[in-house]
Amino acid sequence: MGFERFGLDNKVVEILHSMDITTPTPIQQSLIPVLKQNANAIVSAKTGSGKTLAFFLPILEAIISKPITHHYPKAFILAPTKELASQIYEVVGYFSKELGLHRALLQGGANIEYEKKLLKRGSDIIVATPQRAKEHIKNRDFDIKSIKHFVIDEADMAFDMGFVGYIEEFLSQISKNAQKVIVSATITPRVVKLAKSYIKPIRRIEIDASNKVSDSVTHHIYPVLKSKKNELLSWMISNNNYGKVLLFVRKKEIANTLEEVLKEWGYKVGVLHGQKQHNERKKALNAFKSGKLDILIATDIAARGLDIAGLNIVISYDIPHIKQDFIHRVGRTGRANTQGVAITLVSPDEIEQLKDLYKLLGERIQEIILNDFAPKDVKARGYLLQAPQKRRKAKSTKPKNTSPLNKKGKKRKTTKRDGFKMYDMKKKKNS
Ligand code: ADP
Ligand code: MG
Repeated sequence: MGFERFGLDNKVVEILHSMDITTPTPIQQSLIPVLKQNANAIVSAKTGSGKTLAFFLPILEAIISKPITHHYPKAFILAPTKELASQIYEVVGYFSKELGLHRALLQGGANIEYEKKLLKRGSDIIVATPQRAKEHIKNRDFDIKSIKHFVIDEADMAFDMGFVGYIEEFLSQISKNAQKVIVSATITPRVVKLAKSYIKPIRRIEIDASNKVSDSVTHHIYPVLKSKKNELLSWMISNNNYGKVLLFVRKKEIANTLEEVLKEWGYKVGVLHGQKQHNERKKALNAFKSGKLDILIATDIAARGLDIAGLNIVISYDIPHIKQDFIHRVGRTGRANTQGVAITLVSPDEIEQLKDLYKLLGERIQEIILNDFAPKDVKARGYLLQAPQKRRKAKSTKPKNTSPLNKKGKKRKTTKRDGFKMYDMKKKKNS
């Protein structure tokens, strides 16, 4: 059975069909009935699993189930990046035009006067980045008190980027009875705690455990000397028929340097990071989406929520510091019903971060050793790091003492053998 089962308006189902969307995904099956009851929810499901429609369809249904006598803000959807806000706005657009609803997109860097005009005309659905939304609310360009449905997409990032203050303010201004929905593939315990403290009652809707990497992505690790990363990258792209490549780097500076190098080598390259102007970011992403670029180099800002059709390859030039960022990077491929490949270039100095990846993915990681690029010792050994299971098997058959107490009943000290735990602790200390 398709979307008809949710009792959605026929026109909405027709629009879905015209988008080739006929069978609800698991998160849509779970969430739509819950949100139709006007419940509040903290929602997590893997990247590319259709969370946008899962939260938007029931809200849309609630809006159109009453006659639209005049246009005023009813739904307010927050996204932490401009790119994601634009993308959600586009999804809203598929429905709003046909259903006679007005929408507004409010985002930093865009023309604020134009946004004010949209709000003055009256908008039923507002999609916004937090800071710009706050500016408009302060100017009384729209009345936040009229909001009936409030969504925070990629909520862990929104809470982390220093937007907590804004979000607290929005939550305190929005009516108590308004529906509130918190969404991400990586809902952290901190977000759950924050959400529960502001929103009561709130239900937890979770498909798969949070913080899991999408199953539809294959993971290839290429051990490589740091000095040979660029060369390997160029070799890979020129020797494979990847189509468009999304290339993630940890820092803006690396993105800028790589842009020059790859351009010199003849590739059509765009760059997306936080220091680029709004228009440059928009232009680069659109050119990449429409196939005008071979490679889009991006920092983790672009890892959140972006849905790029026909993207089968994500390359990580380095491993991000934060596990969640890796999950979102590789989640740009293998979306909906497609398969994707995530390639990660790892130099020996990233061994600690690689341990984290093994912890996340275990034997799903395949190390690929290329003679011309891998470090000597890696070539000799045949791997940079083995999956934890394999390593344990190779060591000893004696069961490991996992008790926190030693033989004398005293608290055991953390030793090197505790592996990842020790690494996590170190990371926490430094962060
Ligand atoms: P998420 O937010 O979970 O990462 P999105 O909402 O961006 O995922 O959806 C990912 C892709 O899947 C989009 O291109 C969307 O159009 C598509 N999609 C969503 N729901 C369905 C469905 N029921 N059937 C087929 N494709 C879908
Ligand atoms: Mg999403």
